[in-house]
Amino acid sequence: MCDAGDHEPSSAAASRDGLSRRALLIGTGIVIGATAIGWDLFSPDLSATAAGTYLRPCGVVPISSSWQGHRNRNPPSGEPGTDYAVVVGTPIRAATDGVIVDRKDSTTTATGRYLALRASDGNYIRYLHLQSSSVPLGARVTRGQIIAYSGASGFGSEAGYGAHVHVSLWIGGTPLQLGFTNSVDFENYVEGGPIQPPSEDPVPIHQSSSYQWNSVVPRGVWTRIPVASDLYWLAHSSATVKETGDVSIYLTAAKVTKGFQLRIVAETLNASGVVVASSPQPALEIPATAAEAPNSLTFGQYTLPYSLSGPIRLFAEIRSLNTGLRVEQVTVKKNYWLS
Ligand SMILES: [Zn+2]
Repeated sequence: MCDAGDHEPSSAAASRDGLSRRALLIGTGIVIGATAIGWDLFSPDLSATAAGTYLRPCGVVPISSSWQGHRNRNPPSGEPGTDYAVVVGTPIRAATDGVIVDRKDSTTTATGRYLALRASDGNYIRYLHLQSSSVPLGARVTRGQIIAYSGASGFGSEAGYGAHVHVSLWIGGTPLQLGFTNSVDFENYVEGGPIQPPSEDPVPIHQSSSYQWNSVVPRGVWTRIPVASDLYWLAHSSATVKETGDVSIYLTAAKVTKGFQLRIVAETLNASGVVVASSPQPALEIPATAAEAPNSLTFGQYTLPYSLSGPIRLFAEIRSLNTGLRVEQVTVKKNYWLS
């Protein structure tokens, strides 16, 4: 209903919340810790409730898919909204005063967990793909109040989507009254006006590829994962071209008796193209799938929102926790902008 096609459903993917919530955004030439993102970027002004004064859910953060981008998809999103790229566990603040009039606590369907806010001005706002919320149905909330924590939930899994919060807005009615596709661009109603898209094209470029690696990886050693024959880069920027987006890597592995770990590494290059720094992002551990059949496969997924500026490139690594593990297929999906 909401944004099928936004990100890869991962019913088959395994992930652990405690680790994935520490995944980091990579910022302008440096690695920014999660604590620097989205926390307390504004102090609530409790007097303002009219349209044009809404607060973004997590402050000023990269937009991984705009409202127009949702509408331009093929097929178009069933619930166009703004995707704010934030790591799992980022506090979400109420856009304005209102009442929580709907909430869903399961990860089922495309929306995953959500909260709906009936604003005091009569408008209706939904926050999708949440990790958690302790605000009960019927609660009155005030502008700027933390009402939930962001996640990647959807399609029956905690990681059905890449980590982000999706915000949809309807003017003067509920989505059932007005139609789910008749939302408006939330960014046009926020305090200070919309963030300019990172490029002139508001529609992110979608890239998808699969590669049959069919390689046994050694136990206990971080091993670089190819995404095509002799190609390792998930994303890269240069001194003149920035790249912003989110990338997911999906692995299918055989002979997984214990498990494996995944991580993405950012390499910074100097003007001569020599690697001068390497910044591994936190590892995500994928346990072995319960071995009901002797040849069962284990699936792993790692998703990272990123913003690269300067000569930086990203690649992924795997570390097996048992001997004999063989990675069969590597799939990479990206939504990104160049600017
Ligand atoms: Zn979305």
